[in-house]
Amino acid sequence: MKLILLGPPGAGKGTQAVRLVKHYGIPQISTGDILRKAVKEGTELGTLAKKYMDSGELVPDEVVIGIIRERIVEPDCEKGYILDGFPRTIAQAEALDAMLAKMDTAIDHVVNIAVRDEEIVKRLTGRRTCSNCGAGYHILFDTPKEEGVCDKCGGKLIQRDDDKEETIRARLKVYRQQTEPLIAYYEKKGLLRMVPGEGNMEEIFDAILKALGEDFDGKSV
Ligand code: AMP
Repeated sequence: MKLILLGPPGAGKGTQAVRLVKHYGIPQISTGDILRKAVKEGTELGTLAKKYMDSGELVPDEVVIGIIRERIVEPDCEKGYILDGFPRTIAQAEALDAMLAKMDTAIDHVVNIAVRDEEIVKRLTGRRTCSNCGAGYHILFDTPKEEGVCDKCGGKLIQRDDDKEETIRARLKVYRQQTEPLIAYYEKKGLLRMVPGEGNMEEIFDAILKALGEDFDGKSV
């Protein structure tokens, strides 16, 4: 199964992707995670990406398209994958379609997780990540036992640079202008499945499975 998770930053794409990975046994491919790793490692890609990411702008299309082109041919992608945070522009979607057509394959489903702007700001400003193991927390919804400390490994919890309110507003603007048009793009292709992204994580996950044509036991219907 080749799946795209669409939705604004903070819609819960990453969280739901982790569950979908377990459910379907296919990898999550997050361009945001790949870019953050490159920034952390100080690679050439990381240095280039950092200035866009810090200001909430998109990294140039050809850069992320190149990342995806290399990633989807790796052996673990044979049975499919979950694209999280890619594509983010019409040009990226068209490049992906062309890439897959050459491989004689195509995307099966596009799930759009819809969340209102004010809810997103509330969610993202409270988001914290472990600087050591990458585990995710939230200062309102998913608090660690000890403030600022990771339950799993004792690492320090930090806020992503691009989760500051000003950058979030910039990311939302970029999303509405450049990424939201993908909803119509995939709707025209008959691939779009809409899922409301407000509610608890389990409810949203069940709604995604249902939108993908499964019942709550994970069986196809
Ligand atoms: P994310 O973790 O998906 O919210 O991505 C964090 C940041 O990485 C974004 O704000 C962009 O600067 C960059 N990024 C991630 N994926 C893409 C993409 N497909 N196209 C362009 N920039 C991206």
